[in-house]
Amino acid sequence: MKYSVVRGTKDILPEETGKWQYVEKVSREIFRIYGFSEMRTPLFEKTELFVRAIGTDTDIVTKEMYNFKDKKGRELTLRPEGTAGIIRAAVENNLISKDQNTKLYYMGPMYRYERPQKGRQREFYQVGAELIGEDKSLYDYEIIALVWGILGKLGLKNLKLYINSVGCSVCRLKYLECLRNYFKNNVGSMCTDCGNRLDTNIMRILDCKNDKDRMIIEKAPKIRDFLCDNCKMSYNQLKVLLASVEIKYEEDSYMVRGLDYYTKNVFEVKYSGLGAQNTLAAGGRYNNLVSEMGGPGASGTGFSIGMERLLMVCEKENVTANWEINGVDVFFALIGNKAIVKGRLLLSNSRSAGISCECDYSPEKSLKSQMKRADKLGCKYVVIIGDDELSGGKAILRNMKDSSQEEVEFDSLVKELKNKL
Ligand SMILES: [Zn+2]
Ligand SMILES: [Zn+2]
Repeated sequence: MKYSVVRGTKDILPEETGKWQYVEKVSREIFRIYGFSEMRTPLFEKTELFVRAIGTDTDIVTKEMYNFKDKKGRELTLRPEGTAGIIRAAVENNLISKDQNTKLYYMGPMYRYERPQKGRQREFYQVGAELIGEDKSLYDYEIIALVWGILGKLGLKNLKLYINSVGCSVCRLKYLECLRNYFKNNVGSMCTDCGNRLDTNIMRILDCKNDKDRMIIEKAPKIRDFLCDNCKMSYNQLKVLLASVEIKYEEDSYMVRGLDYYTKNVFEVKYSGLGAQNTLAAGGRYNNLVSEMGGPGASGTGFSIGMERLLMVCEKENVTANWEINGVDVFFALIGNKAIVKGRLLLSNSRSAGISCECDYSPEKSLKSQMKRADKLGCKYVVIIGDDELSGGKAILRNMKDSSQEEVEFDSLVKELKNKL
């Protein structure tokens, strides 16, 4: 019986994990620079948490959640996104106060039952952050700058930032009414999803990818024409802040996020080379989520980056070659039983000194095959010890990059390796 990986999930193999770790390392570094701390929340939560936070009529809640009952009959769900759990945990642990902002980040797997395709798995990884505090555009700007910082540090350039405002509960009422009037007359010629959304979640119609529907959508009323003074001011301030640091953006009047909690400023970062699944990072402001989760009257803003897509873009943009992904630095090629004893001692001393090194586990392997292995592992140096070296008290140290060789006394080998690496 041979088993295979479950549809929509993927093994991340050793040759790939170095890149994942590099992206995670860079992200952590930028998070630290921006003053964010990591929070780790459980992979599953009570189902009602996600229903409440994300919205009853969203695609995520109606179609995509992995719901299950545990042995006591509790309704639980594998987290489909990171924000709900983070806010739940921040409220529960009293991390949110009115006069101070709270900066949290997370990374890990999320779960959504969607049709698997390139760059979209049912188990997928996200890196994200939440900045909880006041209802200020400066916060939205900081989150965008943070995303830009991570993507920039990875060496990505051909990305586009899109911004929009989805309004607040005040200005959205009037907008939704206009939108309903508009789509009521057009929905007959649109797809069935759009037809259903007319009564459940009308703003989601704007998100339809159907080409024919797009033509109708692009003539629909725009939310930004309906913004109240407060939302308008907040949106304009964000534009000023972005311009002040020369972060270029485009405005997308029909951008709506797939989660109900967003209010006011929202954004997406897209990469055109990804086809239909071209959104790399996205986020925005949520003014009511914290209080809906039982917290104080604080608002927040956040983002998430999809790791699988991010790595696809990194490959396409050819930036991974510049990444320093540490493998094994030194290979000990040992020939003959006596050399193996001495060589293993030196290898052990090198490891104690923090040098990453490896040797072959079968002593009968030829020097040639050992050198091949060293090359495959990407080692920078090879220490060669055979009978001659053993009697002379010196090892041959070969530089794999320029193929130069020198003799190094056993006693100073560890120090010499340290100097070179
Ligand atoms: Zn408003
Ligand atoms: Zn449609």
